[in-house]
Amino acid sequence: MSTPARAWHAELAWLPGSGVRPDVLIEASGDRFTAVTPDVPAADVPDALRAGLVRLPGLTLPGLANAHSHAFHRALRGATQVGLGTFWTWRERMYQVASELDPDSYLALARAVYAEMALAGVTCVGEFHYLHHQPGGVPFQDPNEMSRALIEAAAQAGIRMTLLDTCYLAGGLGRDGTPQPLEGTQLRFGDGDGEAWAARAERLGADKHGLLGPLARVGAAIHSVRAVPLGQMHPVVAWAQRYGAPLHAHVSEQRAENEACLAAYRRTPTEVLYDAGVLGPRATAVHATHLVGRDVELLGGSRTYACLCPTTEADLADGIGPARELAGAGCPLTLGSDSQAVIDLFEEARRVELGERLASGQRGHFRAGELARAATTDGHASLGWPDAGEIASGAIADLVTVGLDSPRLAGATRTTALASVVFAASAADVRHVVVGGRDLVADGRHLLIDDVPGALAAAIRPLLGT
Ligand SMILES: [Zn+2]
Repeated sequence: MSTPARAWHAELAWLPGSGVRPDVLIEASGDRFTAVTPDVPAADVPDALRAGLVRLPGLTLPGLANAHSHAFHRALRGATQVGLGTFWTWRERMYQVASELDPDSYLALARAVYAEMALAGVTCVGEFHYLHHQPGGVPFQDPNEMSRALIEAAAQAGIRMTLLDTCYLAGGLGRDGTPQPLEGTQLRFGDGDGEAWAARAERLGADKHGLLGPLARVGAAIHSVRAVPLGQMHPVVAWAQRYGAPLHAHVSEQRAENEACLAAYRRTPTEVLYDAGVLGPRATAVHATHLVGRDVELLGGSRTYACLCPTTEADLADGIGPARELAGAGCPLTLGSDSQAVIDLFEEARRVELGERLASGQRGHFRAGELARAATTDGHASLGWPDAGEIASGAIADLVTVGLDSPRLAGATRTTALASVVFAASAADVRHVVVGGRDLVADGRHLLIDDVPGALAAAIRPLLGT
């Protein structure tokens, strides 16, 4: 994929080490930045770069990484808020949507969802994918057909993806550690055992660096300690290790998970994952909500990422995780839209700080820059793209520009711009998005998919039976 040399002129840009700088000339060749120069007034841009120069009014950030997504949950938005409900009514509805999807309908839905993400400034998604098989658990002719639909969806929507191929083997844990069999829709998730999961994942055909294409790479996931028995985790860990691939797991999202795990193993979910060799600098603990002190030590000491999904954790009444403690112990934080209750990483970012304030009764736990780092640099690294997520020469050329002229952000200055965006922007304020040196969103319009709301509605309505 060759992209000619490009240049953008950002009114303001957030640069590593130097914060928000004015008049930043950003140059790229192919999919990499080649030069990033602040303090170049537009009138002083060299003539050679003037043709095709794109002006970026507002604050330009590196592309945003959505480190935890289940694309099909987007169909549940609103539907699960009608009337009252519990976690279980939400899950029932989620399974109902999962039971309907086939490779064609999932391609259409995911393409529209990833386009919505692009409009929200997301340039890279970690898709935690477990809907592998046909109803009843029968493999498709190509057992990775659903995965390929997701990879194609991200390619059509123009965003980078890490396909976190998820091992999901059991419906729960008995008190004695016996795995409960999968039932109903869950049968679509299961590969039988860890070795069979690894054999299927191998057939994805990643190269030795884990790449599936210029914008796609593989990762692995253990759904949770409830869904993967301890004795079945090793093949997943070994497979991820062979590719140097990210390895993600849901960890202690709800108290019931901790109770089942303690009853079965006499250990917390974090301890089980630590003992299985899952944790480490390529691993991500998703949610990490209900932890004890030892869990925080194990996660931080192993430099495991902690992916917080605050809008989902609020929607599902999961709780507020110990974000500050985790960061203090050594866990880089990342952010995910998870159930797609909303797709807005600014909202996820500020809720990390606001959740701490509500839980502690005190302000001032995270600076805006730390939250922006979770949404960019650390999010990308956790998905296996360590050279994305910074506006710096040599890095992957992904950008997102937030307009500062909306009613929400008007009045922001260079000094307040980053804090204004993190604490008050909405996804609707995203104006321009660049992925791999190519413009993907311009003036708030997706350049590859004309009518994103139309594509979402067309994909979702048949799934809801309305
Ligand atoms: Zn999840």
